[in-house]
Amino acid sequence: MKALDELTFDNRFARLGDAFSTHVLPEPLDAPRLVVASEAAMALLDLDPAVAQTPVFAELFGGHKLWAEAEPRAMVYSGHQFGGYTPQLGDGRGLLLGEVYNEAGEHWDLHLKGAGMTPYSRMGDGRAVLRSSIREFLASEALHALGIPSSRALCVIGSDTPVWREKQERGAMVLRMAHSHIRFGHFEYFYYTKKPEQQALLAEHVLNLHYPECREQPEPYLAMFREIVERNAELIAKWQAYGFCHGVMNTDNMSILGITFDFGPFAFLDDFDAHFICNHSDHEGRYSFSNQVPIGQWNLSALAQALTPFISVDALKEALGLYLPLYQANYLDLMRRRLGLTTAEDDDQQLVERLLKLMQNSGVDYTLFFRRLGDESAALAVARLRDDFVDLAGFDAWAEQYKARVARDGDYGEEQRRARMHAVNPLYILRNYLAQNAIAAAESGDYSEVRRLHEVLSKPFEEQAGMEQYAQRPPDWGKHLEISCSS
Ligand code: AMP
Ligand code: MG
Repeated sequence: MKALDELTFDNRFARLGDAFSTHVLPEPLDAPRLVVASEAAMALLDLDPAVAQTPVFAELFGGHKLWAEAEPRAMVYSGHQFGGYTPQLGDGRGLLLGEVYNEAGEHWDLHLKGAGMTPYSRMGDGRAVLRSSIREFLASEALHALGIPSSRALCVIGSDTPVWREKQERGAMVLRMAHSHIRFGHFEYFYYTKKPEQQALLAEHVLNLHYPECREQPEPYLAMFREIVERNAELIAKWQAYGFCHGVMNTDNMSILGITFDFGPFAFLDDFDAHFICNHSDHEGRYSFSNQVPIGQWNLSALAQALTPFISVDALKEALGLYLPLYQANYLDLMRRRLGLTTAEDDDQQLVERLLKLMQNSGVDYTLFFRRLGDESAALAVARLRDDFVDLAGFDAWAEQYKARVARDGDYGEEQRRARMHAVNPLYILRNYLAQNAIAAAESGDYSEVRRLHEVLSKPFEEQAGMEQYAQRPPDWGKHLEISCSS
């Protein structure tokens, strides 16, 4: 276990030089204080969890203090936003403080979001508000606990610093961690600004640090792109299987590592709705729940375009062709597990599609349906779940198909079925209204609800005593919350 001053830095991205990032110091928050910390994320840095309670923790992650070895940098990138190219973006309010490596030899980027203005702030104030910082913290840790690759969050630091959005709010900082903060948009930036040397340096950097096994391949860059395609197909399959809607899948928000990255007006589905749009400024539904699948491919094509100096167009196209079949195979595999199936049959895709259509028409809670389906034998479970459906004849027909399919899958007994299904079907997810309750309390100075919710979501598959209220469908007020896009 380490104390805060014992972290070991090795700032490899900073060493790429000034073409890639600019040295900027964090702008401190007034009266910084700990809102919430993740012990699990602290463990990744070998940090003693007790240090989160010390004043120096809030000072470090509230922008007042810095390690001597940290090299805070704002990174430059660009990206396609809602389909159109924005030539220059970059860390407008976040700083890569440095790269820390732990005793296991893993490197973690420490990225402080809400740390003040940078050369890339454009019209922004460089700040992040408490509400959006709490949402990012909860979402990244909750996704990780669900087994969905994501950037992590070490802590949220609150403050008295006033920040103007639609109204006056308070500034906060979230300390984000990932093995890399490089986005598709980094490659696009050097491609569209016609800086082949820097682009090659960036590609070498990513290859050496994050895809070293691709070095062994005849075409290392192509192997790396293929790997990125595969990771994204797997990631988006998990989003779809678990009902996560990212909301702003611009290429500057897509990680080169295939992890969930940059949280805005994201949402987990309550009722199943394939057309759900969580981002209220997304008028055309470009990033609706079901569109995440083709958008994943669109984003990979944008990355492919930026890689044309290194890889032939034909090879890129072929690699892109892997995306959909891989997505489908991964998604179907996850859905089979969610249904408690251990074998594969040709009709499984249709079994899933029929169920989702029924759920869509009846507004069935996506998370609780699967959890309850595993509570008891298939026959008893479908008999109990039947009441949630409007189209009873339709559901009965599906239930017959499902029971027959389960019977062919094998007779495992109820206990084994429950254990297997509950291990993949969470009881607790980050519903918007739960986040909203925690945020309202935090905005009035009570951080206990954020901390409790974080605790509950860190074990989403385990039924936790006294936490029944976190496993409920939303109340009416919480069903269609408009989450502000300003953050
Ligand atoms: P986002 O929507 O958070 O992914 O941000 C898109 C771009 O806008 C990124 O370049 C951000 O750094 C920048 N940005 C967002 N909010 C602010 C802000 N309050 N101040 C400065 N830049 C910002
Ligand atoms: Mg972003």
